[in-house]
Amino acid sequence: MSLPYTTLPRRWDVLVAGGGTAGAIAGIAAAREGARVLVLESQGSLGGTGTNAWVTPLMRNVSGGVNLNRGLTDELKARLLARGDGAVDKNGNDNWFNPEALKYVLEVLLLEAGGEVLYHTSVVAPVVEAGHIHSLVVHNKGGLQALEADVFIDATGDADVAAAAGVPFHAGDEDGLHQAMSLRFTLAGVDLERLCTFLAEHGQWQESPRFMHFWMVWGKKSSLEPLFRRAVVEGVLEERDGDYFQAFSVPGRPGELSFNCPRIRADLNDGADPWHLSGAQTDGRESIERLIRFCKTFLPGCGQAYLGSYAPMVGVRETRRIVGDYTLTLGDILDSRKFEDAVCRNHYPVDIHSVKGGAKLLHEREGTAPYFAPDAYHELPYRCLLPQGVENLLVPGRAASSTFEAQSSIRVQQNCHSMGEAAGVAAAWAAREYGGTVRRVAGMALRERLRALGANV
Ligand SMILES: Cc1cc2nc3c(=O)[nH]c(=O)nc-3n(C[C@H](O)[C@H](O)[C@H](O)COP(=O)(O)OP(=O)(O)OC[C@H]3O[C@@H](n4cnc5c(N)ncnc54)[C@H](O)[C@@H]3O)c2cc1C
Repeated sequence: MSLPYTTLPRRWDVLVAGGGTAGAIAGIAAAREGARVLVLESQGSLGGTGTNAWVTPLMRNVSGGVNLNRGLTDELKARLLARGDGAVDKNGNDNWFNPEALKYVLEVLLLEAGGEVLYHTSVVAPVVEAGHIHSLVVHNKGGLQALEADVFIDATGDADVAAAAGVPFHAGDEDGLHQAMSLRFTLAGVDLERLCTFLAEHGQWQESPRFMHFWMVWGKKSSLEPLFRRAVVEGVLEERDGDYFQAFSVPGRPGELSFNCPRIRADLNDGADPWHLSGAQTDGRESIERLIRFCKTFLPGCGQAYLGSYAPMVGVRETRRIVGDYTLTLGDILDSRKFEDAVCRNHYPVDIHSVKGGAKLLHEREGTAPYFAPDAYHELPYRCLLPQGVENLLVPGRAASSTFEAQSSIRVQQNCHSMGEAAGVAAAWAAREYGGTVRRVAGMALRERLRALGANV
């Protein structure tokens, strides 16, 4: 790093780069283990994709009727439920939440644990000496500053720190293409009762206005497909608007729907490329104009609706994936492979939002592999969080060490929570007992500790 920067006189045990889905939880977990923790976040709130890309609800990750992610995830749900910002449907699905409230809940949990956060601060580069990160150079209103710590957690989702530190990584599929990005938005002022009735009459029954989920994807037998076709013929929608359309109600926000779309143009698929990211904002807003017009014109109950908000962050599903001490593969998932140093259990399917067309939800071995039994799950080892070539760095979240297909399965939020919790505990131990060397943390002891903290591992 040749640019001049000042080094802050303070020092932390653990620095977390990115206070998102995995990073916020990692910060809380490390602080609870007694570490001095600072979370560095480029946005003005915690939660990352779950809050600032407005990704709600949490995807279900259940096996044999049991939720596979517990620990801090349970605490988040309990706090959200107590505020009226979480909800449980009649099937026991407790994954509905209000992203705006989650920002506050995460912040309170971090501060209660004694952790600190520095918002509006982007990590620029690590200072690395002989495979050991010495400090992170950040940029914020104070200019360029270096912050020192014993252990670092790269929870940027894009492995920004790891990549800059020289850790090998993969990105995209065999052609270097990434999963599609989406710019989520909300529609407010919706008469949800009326919309529920309409949807029920059109083949998509809803439990109640509190628990709504409706969708349309070309060729996937959605009952709403004829409506979309008409909208395309009438010039309200473009063909690509039907590549993926999905909406949910949001606890604590009556009259509002959150949309898991629009899908961004296929040529803008790299969330680690600033030009693609910026293009995704403009392309997304253009598509949202069409989608809102469609809802107001074609969906009863939406006539008086208006744009609630654009998600501040573009939703990025996959960019860089580090090469770690273990790389999780599709085979591990389909064979329901278990590991002694497991830190996370998963039964969410392979779910690739391909820019090559269509959504590949389940792998071709569906039905025959052990993974498809209702009580099956596979595990993810601690070693997936350990980047090759650097001794005091952990990488939880969607950038953990996995193949393109495996990543599409483990990337959902509750798994990122579990990985974040494991990384936080391990970082605190490494700082306290092992001079920062994360490989000296015994995976099996870590697993025992996570179990004691309520994790399902
Ligand atoms: C459109 C979309 C729909 C999805 N749908 C669902 C769903 O319905 N349910 C579900 O469970 N999962 C869903 N997912 C998957 C899931 O939300 C993400 O995989 C997960 O949230 C990623 O968590 P993460 O911690 O790895 O990254 P993030 O949550 O993105 O966190 C990264 C954080 O790091 C910060 N950051 C990045 N770079 C820097 C830097 N250089 N300096 C400082 N800060 C930085 C970011 O601002 C962010 O806060 C969806 C994802 C997308 C994109």
